[in-house]
Amino acid sequence: MTTQPDWQAFEQAHVWHPYASMLDPAPVYAVKSAEGVRLTFEDGRRVIDGMASWWCAIHGYNVPELNAAIGQQLGSMAHVMFGGLTHAPAALLAERLLGIAPPGMQHVFFADSGSVSVEVAIKMALQYWQAQGRSGKSRLLTIRHGYHGDTFGAMAVCDPVSGMHHLFADQLPQHFFADAPGAASDEAWDEQQIASFRSLIEAHHNEIAAVILEPIVQGAGGMRFYAPEFLRQVRRLCDACNVLLIVDEIATGFGRTGTMFACEQAQVTPDIMCVGKALTGGYMTLAAVLCTAAVCEGIHADGSGVLMHGPTFMANPLACAVALASLDLLLATPWQQRVAKIEQQLQLELAPCRESTRVADVRVKGAIGVIEMREPMDMGRVQEALIARGVWLRPFGRLLYTMPPFVISEADLRQVTSAMCSVAQ
Ligand SMILES: *Cc1c(COP(=O)(O)O)cnc(C)c1O
Repeated sequence: MTTQPDWQAFEQAHVWHPYASMLDPAPVYAVKSAEGVRLTFEDGRRVIDGMASWWCAIHGYNVPELNAAIGQQLGSMAHVMFGGLTHAPAALLAERLLGIAPPGMQHVFFADSGSVSVEVAIKMALQYWQAQGRSGKSRLLTIRHGYHGDTFGAMAVCDPVSGMHHLFADQLPQHFFADAPGAASDEAWDEQQIASFRSLIEAHHNEIAAVILEPIVQGAGGMRFYAPEFLRQVRRLCDACNVLLIVDEIATGFGRTGTMFACEQAQVTPDIMCVGKALTGGYMTLAAVLCTAAVCEGIHADGSGVLMHGPTFMANPLACAVALASLDLLLATPWQQRVAKIEQQLQLELAPCRESTRVADVRVKGAIGVIEMREPMDMGRVQEALIARGVWLRPFGRLLYTMPPFVISEADLRQVTSAMCSVAQ
């Protein structure tokens, strides 16, 4: 029996949901609680969360270690401003982050969401060149099919077709877009894949402050995977052309692709790196921008430079404390084996979907499994069918995909993959 909680009619009339119409709302399901890898709806149904709440809940829900960290921090302080004050949770988290980040990362700026961290990363790059007296280097170069967030600076580097450029065209700064690489592995690599990127950076490096891209996996812009060789060549071209490299590890960071950070797969160290999403294990909103000593020194090169950003909730102690506990938990668990096992199981169990004439492609990278359909799906209908099979996923367009919590059991993951295969048939 399906019953609605008594607040839901009010909610539906007054509360916006992501990318949604207020007047003609798509169905939303009321969640009462979450535990392990399962969400319990208000009507009593239980579903396995194959989305890890949009990449975040890597340890699942109601995790004793994370609950305890928040509880303990709450006992001393929930929040204080970061202007002129500091605290142990921020210091310890910064130390832990720099300890696992690619070599060369030296400084941390805490932001309150992924999109804001992208804004800060862009500011760092622009201020860096301004301080060198090179304010002409003020544009960005990226690749198509990217996603970097919904604020204006971030939107301007999202894919120009599937992103929101058409809605805000006059308000967005104009950047350079190279073709995205098509090859998913170094074996399938050919030099043609970098040609468009190379010609843009070589022609325009005097105007370009930084390259920004998602390393190895392009998430919300199309769930595409690309060859590490592309990233290696991007790094070399950035060095040769005197352009900074920003990697957006907000979706890929903290083990999702099989390595702690995706850029490790190309042995590339960025100049600036954004992390977010799984940073707090899905408990609270927090992101960070990491940068090298050279970027930091460059921003201060003209003697007066200060980095001009300072969110109200910068380095929120509760968020920092739970992030630290989440990283410690990750490092204490065999996450690499878990992700490798999930990868193998996804490969094996999604492979049969290739037989379906409705399926265009099946691809797996780390703990990410994607079925790309030939035609767009009816999200509402597909979601109902998945829920009937005890699985929560949020398909978009032609993409049906999962990035489950790393702690998912073999049996639960099989339930996810078999639900995916059945709706893709
Ligand atoms: C989700 C995401 C963002 C934006 O993060 P928010 O916390 O939603 O603002 C930016 N970049 C990438 C790659 C993401 O996946």
